[in-house]
Amino acid sequence: MPELPEVESVRTGLEKLIKGKKITNAKVLWPRIIAEPNRIEDFEQRIVGQTIHSIDRRGKFLIFHLSKDVLISHLRMEGKYRIEKKEVPFSKHTHVILELDEEAELRYLDVRKFGRMSLIEHSELENHPSLKKLGPEPIEEGLLIEPFQLNLKKRKKSIKAVLLDQTIVAGIGNIYADEILYEASIHPERYADSLKVEEVQTLRTAILDVMRKAVAAGGTTIRTYQNAFGETGAYQAQLNVYGRSGLNCRRCGNTIEKIKVAQRGTHFCPVCQD
Ligand SMILES: [Zn+2]
Repeated sequence: MPELPEVESVRTGLEKLIKGKKITNAKVLWPRIIAEPNRIEDFEQRIVGQTIHSIDRRGKFLIFHLSKDVLISHLRMEGKYRIEKKEVPFSKHTHVILELDEEAELRYLDVRKFGRMSLIEHSELENHPSLKKLGPEPIEEGLLIEPFQLNLKKRKKSIKAVLLDQTIVAGIGNIYADEILYEASIHPERYADSLKVEEVQTLRTAILDVMRKAVAAGGTTIRTYQNAFGETGAYQAQLNVYGRSGLNCRRCGNTIEKIKVAQRGTHFCPVCQD
């Protein structure tokens, strides 16, 4: 599943390629991708004629600012955007086609069909249910230490589960949760409310560092992820625990283990993260 760094890479790619373009036709081939409006015909009619002014991101959500409306898009497991010439045949995994300036097409592909799009009015954006409960972005000025500490104190569950909770910090998924906890030398099964003040500070720094480096690397490519240019990310070369079970810890030489925490495969070093 794409996490914040991968979605950010998709965002910057799309912005370079389609900013300023006008949507001249729209076709939805798999209706369930469209969460709002209810009727697919309404989506198709409303979006045609609108220009793509900019593309933002919040957590793992892409936010297309159009001339009249806003399109919120969540890629979930396997959603992808592709820009193709109109004459290029589309694959069976293509579910939404937006024609741009009567020349190219922005195509949404999704093998698992879990991704969702909502076309809403600008005024609805701030209070939209998908975005309203999101926690802060994992950046210096977003993730403030005091509210973060308070949130952890209130949670009697594993720190891994809490990092995956989008209401605490937005954008972290399974890969980066493991990398962050390794960086902070915290065992993934530790209860969030048991962390000492210094540990919370170390954890916050690890969140900021890991996410900044992963964004700079264009995200992590495991299996199929590519950005809108068809480029892959490069952060997989920097992974310390994710996908490395059975290999040696780069810090202490011990064997990286894989266990289940919060129903997710979790990688850690039993020595460094004691
Ligand atoms: Zn180690």
